[in-house]
Amino acid sequence: MEWTPGGLSNDVEDRRDDSGGGGGGGGFGFGGGGIGGGGLGIGGFIILAILSLLFGRNFLGGFFGGGGTQAPVRTQQMQSSGPHQHSASEDRDAQLISFTLDDVQKTWTAIFEKKGRQYTHAKLVLFRGSTYSGCGTAQASTGPFYCPADQKVYIDLDFWDELKKFGGSTADFAQAYVIAHELGHHVQNLVGTEKKVRLFEQQQPSQQNHLSVDVELQADCYAGVWAHSAQERHIVDPGDIDNALSAAAAVGDDHLQKMSGRAVSPESWTHGSSAQRQTWFKKGFESGDPKSCNTFGGTDSQ
Ligand SMILES: [Zn+2]
Repeated sequence: MEWTPGGLSNDVEDRRDDSGGGGGGGGFGFGGGGIGGGGLGIGGFIILAILSLLFGRNFLGGFFGGGGTQAPVRTQQMQSSGPHQHSASEDRDAQLISFTLDDVQKTWTAIFEKKGRQYTHAKLVLFRGSTYSGCGTAQASTGPFYCPADQKVYIDLDFWDELKKFGGSTADFAQAYVIAHELGHHVQNLVGTEKKVRLFEQQQPSQQNHLSVDVELQADCYAGVWAHSAQERHIVDPGDIDNALSAAAAVGDDHLQKMSGRAVSPESWTHGSSAQRQTWFKKGFESGDPKSCNTFGGTDSQ
């Protein structure tokens, strides 16, 4: 991926130095572990599983503090007082995140304008450990997510450190893909898809997983729409796209179930199969048109 390190985006809210901001506890009404309250995550576990699968290394171990499935242990830095120095590599992350955030939002601004609509920027919160969000406490085990209530994307840099083990240009594009996917959820929020889905879920609770798949596949497709524009502008090269497709295949729910020795059961899927994720990213990428991203079209989002 081609990009030039610059400053922080105006849309980035830098909470890296707030230690343990997530203490808010009461009030939001969300369940333990995950973000309830309508947050839309790409699935932290899932992304790390991609890395493990693609590169044959266990990225999950470090992230989850060894052995446990949740509640990452993070003792360092909680007690630190005063701002700590950011490493050069962390500053580079913040710059890449800023670059991608601005580029994806510029792309959507242009797409909205063509349709005579106005795109409202999402904010992106950078944090370490945990922080508060309009959808509950954000923590590393949650993975990156978008909160419709406050229109912010939440990125935990501890998670990012794991993502970076991808290495080189591949890691850059994997990071960009995550941001483009999360902003895909912001687009869903702006155009009203998110609200419609919530209403429908209330009426038909049994359809929840099915709808979640449709929502996630559409965000993949929207990420593809951005990748189309980025390729036209020579920011990404064909190798990046191939990597994104392999990544999409590796994080299909069917593949993850197989890898973990569980039975493949489509009704439990929340993100879609390998083939579906590839198909929808590709649809967005090839057309560059969000209209091609109607994942809600039928009973089976093929
Ligand atoms: Zn998502």
